[in-house]
Amino acid sequence: QQEYLVHSEKLAVIGQLAAGVAHEIRNPLTAVKGFVQVLRSDFDAYSQSSYDIVWSELTRIEEITSELLLLAKPQKAEFNTVNLVPVMKHCVTLLEGQAHKRDVYFDLAWDHAVYVDCNENQIRQVFVNLLKNAVESMEDGGVITIAARLVEDVVTISIRDEGVGIPEELKASLGDPFYTTKEKGTGLGLMVVYNILKEHQGSIEIHSEPGLGTEVVIMLPNSSSSAVLQASTPSDHGMTAT
Ligand code: ADP
Ligand code: MG
Repeated sequence: QQEYLVHSEKLAVIGQLAAGVAHEIRNPLTAVKGFVQVLRSDFDAYSQSSYDIVWSELTRIEEITSELLLLAKPQKAEFNTVNLVPVMKHCVTLLEGQAHKRDVYFDLAWDHAVYVDCNENQIRQVFVNLLKNAVESMEDGGVITIAARLVEDVVTISIRDEGVGIPEELKASLGDPFYTTKEKGTGLGLMVVYNILKEHQGSIEIHSEPGLGTEVVIMLPNSSSSAVLQASTPSDHGMTAT
């Protein structure tokens, strides 16, 4: 087992550029999709199959631009003190349907509030991207174990799967734009994760053993106001996530 601490300095600038380009592509793309859809009814049988290809390719462009848009820097004003337990619960709920189809189940062993100063939408995206990768790594079902703890001033969140794992020689490529081993992957998920974590002064470690599974650990600074929050909102404290 080997440990990877990822630094993503250079990706921050590329990320801004990519998000900007994606934004510019999105509006014309939406227009094209709309018009193509209108034209469909005029097509004969032969054109219909061409239409299907055009539609699925446009949808793919849309997927890629949506992921690149996530690299856009959030305004500092959008940062709030957030308990990550309900955020993670929400993400698990989002992916449960897709997971159950593959016989994959979530074990959220996390019963205490942890507060982080963050952009909630972006952190949600981090969780979704990592949980998705975990689900997709398991062909024959299994369990994804999610845990969180607070060590000194660092919130540590671990997502462990029982999937195919990552071969040693591929570990260095993780997070490179468009690096994917999946037929329908975009290879942008981890890049987005690294960028968002960087914006939050966080970090990530990926431990993996091929054949056994992967554990992704993310670390975020604990919110300095967490003590105040935990004292003033006892209902949030000790919340149990299942
Ligand atoms: P995508 O999911 O679209 O392929 P990502 O950036 O999310 O793009 O992931 C890049 C690659 O990293 C994946 O194609 C896969 O090979 C590998 N990977 C990421 N997470 C895991 C995981 N939990 N288990 C196994 N492989 C993973
Ligand atoms: Mg992914």
